[in-house]
Amino acid sequence: NRRPAANAILAPNFKFEDMGIGGLDKEFSSIFRRAFASRIFPPGLIEKLGIQHVKGILLYGPPGTGKTLIARRIGKMLNAREPKVINGPEVLNKYVGQSEENIRKLFADAEKEYREKGDESGLHIIIFDELDAVCKQRGSGAGGGTGVGDSVVNQLLSKLDGVDQLNNILVIGMTNRIDMIDDALLRPGRLEQHVEISLPDEKGRVQILNIHTAKMRASKNLDPDVDLEEIARKTKNYSGAEISGLVRAATSYALSRHVKVGTVAGVSDDVDNITVNRDDFEHGFADVQPAFGVSEDEMQ
Ligand code: ATP
Repeated sequence: NRRPAANAILAPNFKFEDMGIGGLDKEFSSIFRRAFASRIFPPGLIEKLGIQHVKGILLYGPPGTGKTLIARRIGKMLNAREPKVINGPEVLNKYVGQSEENIRKLFADAEKEYREKGDESGLHIIIFDELDAVCKQRGSGAGGGTGVGDSVVNQLLSKLDGVDQLNNILVIGMTNRIDMIDDALLRPGRLEQHVEISLPDEKGRVQILNIHTAKMRASKNLDPDVDLEEIARKTKNYSGAEISGLVRAATSYALSRHVKVGTVAGVSDDVDNITVNRDDFEHGFADVQPAFGVSEDEMQ
């Protein structure tokens, strides 16, 4: 007798380009279609179709590729509450019994609201980062052989199975190691949609560079000699986080040209004219290298 709730409302005038996420439009569409679209239809229709909302998804891929970003932005777009974020190792480090209690607490607000408001309850998103830390295959001794990992997984499974009655929760698990995740968690009805968030391709990198230089371009602090498409070609194997690190490194070189070092360090008078230029990016490249993958150029 479950009555699914239309408890997520698509924010008006939504445009993917405005989300500040580069290169993940296909992944976004697929998450939206599977995990969210059903939530914007009237409950009556969903009931008529006899379907259930997806309760959990797993985003996997290398670090710094935008998993957290996409999870948070989707929540915002659907006018969900600020997501609760919990970190795998953080859960495990607690005293005996405390880790299960942490998981229980994560779900408590959503459960309470569902009991009070039923289908009128808003959508609660729970983000579980570094899920592999607690969810190594059960019995493998995750959590330093204490069995804490096992009980956390069991608690999570029971919560996911329990939310059957609750239509107001979506759990988003994240990991760099999908192979370490307990199969039981990945079954239909649990974290059932698995979306790979991989390193951005060249087009994605142009979008990410545009996002992270948007303000300096608008304020004309990016020198016209900087060619973002060229930088995108040279940042093969960089994650989004590394590209944003590159922009920060380049900016720090531009700023350092305006530092006057004397008895007291200060900034030069022409500080309003700071521009981040091509040379700054060249220096930045020396500082920020991709952590993962070997580029094809290097392999030749
Ligand atoms: P981890 O696996 O280490 O938790 P993650 O995949 O969750 O990493 P995020 O925390 O989402 O990575 O990314 C870190 C930061 O890098 C973001 O806040 C953002 O500034 C930048 N970034 C990463 N990917 C993108 C992207 N696709 N578009 C724009 N910015 C990005």
